[in-house]
Amino acid sequence: MNQTEKTAIVLRYANYGERDRMLTLFSPTRGLIEAAAHGCRRPKSRLLSASELFALGDFELFEKGGRYTVTGFTLIENFYPLRDDWDRLNAGTYLLNLCESAVQPGENAQELFMLLLHTLSRLAFSDQPWRPLLTGFLAHFANTEGFRPRLRHCVVCGDRVEDSAKAWFDLREGGLCCTRHRQEGMPAILPEERAFLHHALETGSSSWTEGAARLAPLSLMEKYVEAHLEKPLRVKAPT
Ligand SMILES: [Zn+2]
Repeated sequence: MNQTEKTAIVLRYANYGERDRMLTLFSPTRGLIEAAAHGCRRPKSRLLSASELFALGDFELFEKGGRYTVTGFTLIENFYPLRDDWDRLNAGTYLLNLCESAVQPGENAQELFMLLLHTLSRLAFSDQPWRPLLTGFLAHFANTEGFRPRLRHCVVCGDRVEDSAKAWFDLREGGLCCTRHRQEGMPAILPEERAFLHHALETGSSSWTEGAARLAPLSLMEKYVEAHLEKPLRVKAPT
């Protein structure tokens, strides 16, 4: 039996009993943690704010026999403005689900944790369009999880693909295919879309213009990332 405190964010909850919730937490140092929040659905529960999606804070956890119970909570941020915009809420929920699919219990995942908080902050508190934010997240997610896409060279022959040349994207191999090595059914990727991804990965910038919003290859990156996840997603990607 022991008591610990962990900074974490709520990725998911499931109601059980009359007033309880099981929370799926993401801690940067301990990965996924399942923790019971007893009585959190009572109107005056002090765990009320701990048991909502996007709740980021310091969780006091009591551990016994490998099971965790939340005994206290200090809220840091709940990204409240996400609730005011359906698309941004949907995008945020999708990010939570992606992290749940990628992170293991006990895993140190600080880079992904920081990427998540950074993107949620921009979704909630900036007026930047959500499509390029989400696309940029997916590119960085692929990088963090070890399958950064190759955006300059053909994954088959290794030849440099000129910036202005036509190219296709191999979802399985994770990168460009030149005209000679493209296969039936491969999605095309426009020069502007490659430039967007390259810029996102190289500079880490999220200062998008309205024009950039149209160049973000969102559905391509969704397909790419989802093809590399071990667990299927519960939340459908925004379109
Ligand atoms: Zn080639």
